[in-house]
Amino acid sequence: MPRQFFVGGNFKMNGSVDTIKKIINHINDAEKDPNTALYLLLAREHLKAPLEVAAQNVFDKPNGAFTGEISVDQLKDSNITWTLLGHSERRVVLQEDDQFVASKTKAALDGGIGVIFCCGETLEQRESGETVKVVTTQLAAVKEKVQDWSKIVIAYEPIWAIGTGKVASTEQAQEVHAAIREWLKKEVSEKVAEETRIIYGGSVSEKNCKDLSKQPDIDGFLVGGASLKPAFVDIINSHL
Ligand code: PEP
Repeated sequence: MPRQFFVGGNFKMNGSVDTIKKIINHINDAEKDPNTALYLLLAREHLKAPLEVAAQNVFDKPNGAFTGEISVDQLKDSNITWTLLGHSERRVVLQEDDQFVASKTKAALDGGIGVIFCCGETLEQRESGETVKVVTTQLAAVKEKVQDWSKIVIAYEPIWAIGTGKVASTEQAQEVHAAIREWLKKEVSEKVAEETRIIYGGSVSEKNCKDLSKQPDIDGFLVGGASLKPAFVDIINSHL
């Protein structure tokens, strides 16, 4: 079965009841090929199926004294079926390490929540030729803890391209996506390599999405800034 194109919008800490309703109505109404914690329920209430809502994070403990965290069961209880994990803003700003991100990935999957697992290198790491090593080390931490990859979407997001307007070239993105697929083939299985969606994130816009979507190993996008604009619909439909 061909991999189904997957596009996620990352609203980050943006929006209000008003603006999020407007964005969602625009997406609902657009012709298509058939998100902050505070606003998760609003998004869930208004977004029409088959569109799904993802949290931006989830904790790895089932309950207890963890002020400010959200558990897997709490997401499920609210009909939230996906979560982002390992976004570079959490890895860098909140110092989440590979082990912690992997542990949260396992907790989410064990609880039946799908994971958009973010990985990516800094500019310094890219310039010193470490891109593939960094990304596969982040993935290897997941491999240690997880057997079933069927509910993981891998988002390759070079940190230097996030929110900077500097999109990776189609060649740069394709090269890393192919390396990730090769790693999955060697380290997990041929089937997982074939079936897992690897999406690109980093300054995706309505202008650059078409070319990126034509690359054989790019199966969709994770979109920050442009997901708050009407043109997000063009990105959702970029593969058509
Ligand atoms: C992101 O934050 O995941 C992202 C890709 O942001 P942007 O599209 O704004 O670069």
